[in-house]
Amino acid sequence: MKLYPEVVVLRLGHRVGRDKRISTHVGLVARAFGARAIIYFGEIERSVVESIRNVVSNWGGRFEVYVETNWRKKILELKNNGWRIVHLTMYGINIAERGLIEELRGCEKLAVVVGAEKVPAELYSIADYNVAIGNQPHSEVAALAVFLDRLYGGKELCISFPNYKLKIIPSARGKMVVRHNDEE
Ligand code: SAM
Repeated sequence: MKLYPEVVVLRLGHRVGRDKRISTHVGLVARAFGARAIIYFGEIERSVVESIRNVVSNWGGRFEVYVETNWRKKILELKNNGWRIVHLTMYGINIAERGLIEELRGCEKLAVVVGAEKVPAELYSIADYNVAIGNQPHSEVAALAVFLDRLYGGKELCISFPNYKLKIIPSARGKMVVRHNDEE
């Protein structure tokens, strides 16, 4: 099943050391909830990138991880290539606002930006949409998960991840994991 619209996630403002775990989780949520790539900006630990790539290698899918330096240049480049920019912020228009999710579903390609510390003020005007997952402060991990789930209407929970080495067989009790070769 191919999800529509296509999504890439942009992670701004990672703080070395402090944000290591949460930035990894942003990447894992992006992959698990149907985005096709994450782009981290600035200095980031190699281990963050490697742990997400290890998950892709073991659990499958075609998710890509990139590290770039200049967020403004990249966002403008994406805009020029037809991507609409969605900035997730508690100050934005609530995702529950009538018609908003339908409008976003009508876009072909969405670049979804999440921050860590305070994001540059300029981002609010560069973004095509400033979207709130409720207008209360919480977390970029929660915001991204809820956003993708609303966008894809739950379909992302049923996608398959090709080229896996490990796959879970859902079970009511205990853990059942098969290795790719077990099925051949
Ligand atoms: N104080 C920071 C600020 O002024 O932006 C908030 C930092 S918050 C811990 C990190 C990121 O989580 C934000 O940049 C935003 O992307 C996301 N976030 C937090 N609450 C949100 C909400 N209610 N709706 C959408 N995104 C949210």
